[in-house]
Amino acid sequence: MERVDALERPETPGAFRDPRCVLEREADRRDKRLAVAGIEVGEAGQANGPRVSTLLVRDATLLATFDDAEREIEAGGLFARDGVIEMVGPSAALPERADEIVDARGMVVLPGLVCTHHHFYQTLTRNLPAGQNVGLFPWLAAHYPIWARLTPGGIGSSTAVALAELLLSGCTTAADHGYIWPNGARVDDQIAVAQEMGVRFHASRGSMSAGRSRGGLPPDDVVEDEADILRDCERVIAEYHDPARYAMTRIVLAPCSPFSVSPELMRASAELARRHGCCLHTHLCETSDEEAYCFDHFGKGPVEFAESLGWSGPDVWYAHAIHIAPEEIERLGAARTGVAHCPTSNMRLGSGIAPLLDQVRAGLRVGLGVDGSASNDGSHMLDETRHAMLLQRVVHGADAFSARDALRLATRGGAGVLGRDDIGQLAPGMAADLIGVRIDGLPSAGGAVHDALASLVFCRIGNVDLNVIAGRARVRNGELVGVDLPELLSRHNRFARELVV
Ligand SMILES: [Zn+2]
Repeated sequence: MERVDALERPETPGAFRDPRCVLEREADRRDKRLAVAGIEVGEAGQANGPRVSTLLVRDATLLATFDDAEREIEAGGLFARDGVIEMVGPSAALPERADEIVDARGMVVLPGLVCTHHHFYQTLTRNLPAGQNVGLFPWLAAHYPIWARLTPGGIGSSTAVALAELLLSGCTTAADHGYIWPNGARVDDQIAVAQEMGVRFHASRGSMSAGRSRGGLPPDDVVEDEADILRDCERVIAEYHDPARYAMTRIVLAPCSPFSVSPELMRASAELARRHGCCLHTHLCETSDEEAYCFDHFGKGPVEFAESLGWSGPDVWYAHAIHIAPEEIERLGAARTGVAHCPTSNMRLGSGIAPLLDQVRAGLRVGLGVDGSASNDGSHMLDETRHAMLLQRVVHGADAFSARDALRLATRGGAGVLGRDDIGQLAPGMAADLIGVRIDGLPSAGGAVHDALASLVFCRIGNVDLNVIAGRARVRNGELVGVDLPELLSRHNRFARELVV
């Protein structure tokens, strides 16, 4: 097994002039394996790993397809070739041979979960004392100066940590919303790690351009020049965006929020994204502070503001969408706009409870996200699914939202939000992205026997036992494949300490 050095690349003249960046870069130079330390590419890497052409998963206690017929198959399995599912059904009806065979007895097998909103870099600043007990705006104010010290190494390490947690909690496709790129950090630092770990990744070239001197919330030293942002968006689209079916990497353009970018940048980003067939993402209607900001600065609420800039439709999704009027929900539903629902973060920051059921009924595309790890403070997709179910019940009662509803949101819902028709269900022609969760252990004892699938949400399940992406195992027997977790974590904690001192 070969360990691979971080990609060598020339120093990027950043938009940031913070003298601290010199110190950070000196620290970076002490070890060249920044982005990939702890990842052994021999097994986990896409390019160098052994090629598995056919995969057979058989004898799952239950295989939940989330296909159009919502089939749940006892003693089920599937057969995949070159990362694409060819057959799904009772194990007895499947081929007997394959390059890799997974015995899924004692597991529920279901489509991989899709995370539609995250900020990987925040795994470096979880549980920061100054941000523990405050709402969004003061929480941001406490974090901005720390995030200004981020480095390419920190971005790489935080991406690996976030993806490790996502993989172990059942995620196979992740969208990250990176919007702060100080000290030469680039979205490339994330993409390199996601490719090495073999995760299907929608990378945001996000942005902030309106600092305090222009009436925005962030300090001036963490925002970028708008011409630079748009130029870099063009660059990463040309370099990485893959519109093809089964794509492993896509680029999203994602100005951060109405209070950190200008309307001009929102409009220009939308035009650029549509020219290249990329999706658009931003935070919207997260808090009443944001709503007040929009009325003060733009004379209209967040939804009307976004719509006026071309920011609604089937290629747009918002994170949160909590403070949103019924007539706005109807309009956004008719336009097929998407929403990333992030219940844990919404509870943690006291932001409110999203009108999720109304959004689904109105036709919005809704999926789940864990939001940033500094406002969650985890990246656990099964936990998020559980919280989504529980939180809607607080408002609407126990019969409003079932475990299967929540899992559908986490699978097919997320696929729809990201504009994908090749993931989110187990059916012929879909990508072989799937997870297996053991139901014969302590957490589901006395529960899975009654309803195996629902036990994944009702019982407090830990991590998954199996995670397969594009037909290749990324978690096997509950362990990450090709990741030296202790090394990754010790390095990450070092970065986290250096960032806050
Ligand atoms: Zn967010």
